Amino acid sequence: MAGMLYLVPTPIGNLGDISERARKTLEEADFIAAEDTRVSLKLLNHLGIKKSLVSYFEHNKAFKGNIILDRILAGETCALVSDAGSPAISDPGEDLVKLCAEHGITVCAIPGPCAVITALSISGQATGRFCFEGFLSTAKKSRKEHLESLRNETRTMIFYEAPHKLVATLEDMAEVFGNDRPISLCRELTKLHEEVVRTTLGAAIEGYTTNPPKGEFVLVVAGAEPVVTEKPTATDAAKRVQQLMADGMSRKDAVKQTAKELDLPKNVVYDAALAIDEE
Ligand code: SAM
Repeated sequence: MAGMLYLVPTPIGNLGDISERARKTLEEADFIAAEDTRVSLKLLNHLGIKKSLVSYFEHNKAFKGNIILDRILAGETCALVSDAGSPAISDPGEDLVKLCAEHGITVCAIPGPCAVITALSISGQATGRFCFEGFLSTAKKSRKEHLESLRNETRTMIFYEAPHKLVATLEDMAEVFGNDRPISLCRELTKLHEEVVRTTLGAAIEGYTTNPPKGEFVLVVAGAEPVVTEKPTATDAAKRVQQLMADGMSRKDAVKQTAKELDLPKNVVYDAALAIDEE
């Protein structure tokens, strides 16, 4: 019988955040797949767990994924951990989950520390609707395209970012979203120097240009104000019909086109045009 894949979240800073269930799963798994085995070894030593570790990271995931899959298909249980936080969220675990799911293997996710959710909950931004955008590309062009695609996004947007790219990213964001857009910069979450700066894009650029940023960041950016489009009135519809008829269109076609353009029912447009004719 095939084994199972467990996704085991690990602390994003504070070692006390490992759960009882996460610890037990690491203890009981046949082997652990880790993004950086040196990082995970430190955690396992802290927990007093001795277990066989295999590396599974961005540049060996295609090859190692199949080896891990074969072991699970042969009946072993694998616990997947990333360097910190929830495996499969902006890390190669995503591919291993897909591979296992495609082969009918049961995947069990243990809830626990995750940078995106920790940041959102502490951000002070609207949490009702949000979108997670992961890391922006390092290539300027695709980074700009990604941000452009979010120009009218009304949900709260969450990004992961490395400190050395922070100012450039904030500048690109300000170009698209404007200097006044609120942002919460969540730094070193759960660690000794945890800090949440709730400010605007413009002020953040100024602040971090003067004091270069250090540590890990999650950026929580407020969504755009929803655009309130005014519904066209009967007078708008009648005027448009008259204009099209003056250009030589038949009344029937003018009503049809106006209804389409203004997204109004044809009979409403027709009645409005008649009412104006009768005035
Ligand atoms: N899978 C992990 C998760 O979702 O929890 C995240 C992995 S991703 C490779 C690493 C990024 O998560 C960092 O670059 C940073 O943006 C964010 N991050 C991780 N730990 C953090 C912390 N303690 N404080 C702030 N951001 C953190």
